[in-house]
Amino acid sequence: MRMSPKRKASRIGSLLSKPFILARSQANNGAALTIAGIDAKTPHPEGGTILRRANGEATGVLLTLAKKLVEPHIPPLTQDQEERAILKGLQLMAAEGVTSVHEAGISRKRLPAWENLARQGRLPIRVYGLLDGNDAELVANWVKRGPFDSDFFTVRGFKVYYDGSLGSRTALLAGPYSDRPHEAEMTERISIEAIRKLAEQVSPQGFQLAVHTIGDAANHKIIDLYRVLRRKFPARDLRWRLEHAQVLDAKAIREISQLGLIASMQPSHAVGLARCQGAADAQLRLARRALDTQGNPLFCCDAKDPLWAAASRLVSSAGFNRAGSPDFTIPSAQLKDIKVIETWVDGRLVKPFTGS
Ligand SMILES: [Zn+2]
Repeated sequence: MRMSPKRKASRIGSLLSKPFILARSQANNGAALTIAGIDAKTPHPEGGTILRRANGEATGVLLTLAKKLVEPHIPPLTQDQEERAILKGLQLMAAEGVTSVHEAGISRKRLPAWENLARQGRLPIRVYGLLDGNDAELVANWVKRGPFDSDFFTVRGFKVYYDGSLGSRTALLAGPYSDRPHEAEMTERISIEAIRKLAEQVSPQGFQLAVHTIGDAANHKIIDLYRVLRRKFPARDLRWRLEHAQVLDAKAIREISQLGLIASMQPSHAVGLARCQGAADAQLRLARRALDTQGNPLFCCDAKDPLWAAASRLVSSAGFNRAGSPDFTIPSAQLKDIKVIETWVDGRLVKPFTGS
């Protein structure tokens, strides 16, 4: 049923009057900014940036650690709400035929929901959990406790954020961003020294480290750190991860292979990278494509996007075409026609979801 333009406008108006945050794009509306007390005079917090209009007014976009200004004002979800949100996400995955996922950076707040779902046998698919490595208390507790393994839920690693992202121009690049370089705020969220200490704290217990590295400069710094760590812990292969590993040059690709590191890439980033010309000259794009990704695709509700990006390594100037009728041809064209009829995990039919 179509909404009349008038009704639509009033609906949008009533939505806008409520505070909201678009988490992925780090955008807050005016009502959210008011609650957090952010105005033209609010200084940039350490490690973060408040994007402003020419007149100094905040646009609502809070980059990297600036989100800490609003976080204390967000009412916490109840554990029941957390569990329902997690189950909904996992059921979407199951509907796409996915039988196992990695959840990177589980926070202290959300962990009890995961643990409870696992304990009650309610996880529809298998989950490999990496805890929030930027949370010192959580790290200390788990180092005492050691990794947790069970059939459907495993905790055996920490994800730590090193740089930002391309979209917000906060990733650490070796050169300036070619589009709007003056707006770039290349950010180191944690020092290399702190990551080294974290690795030395968690690896004797057998925990894996996954460092969020987007830019080429960030990737080089973490590769150098992993080289030192591998020398220090030669006996164990902890499968150190470069999370995203989005912009790589030829040297980084060589070193990743020599050191046996995991470039935990998302094929769909190939599409994003082409859109964000700021990061990628042609050479970097070619180098990135040359790296044979092992998968771990990052996606929301449609597994076919990353499957297609991984198989075709093609990017479309028009963006990825979900609906079909692609404006490029690929040998694996059949991928888009995949239909998931049933998903079975551990002898159990989870799609259509039967609940349990
Ligand atoms: Zn990340």
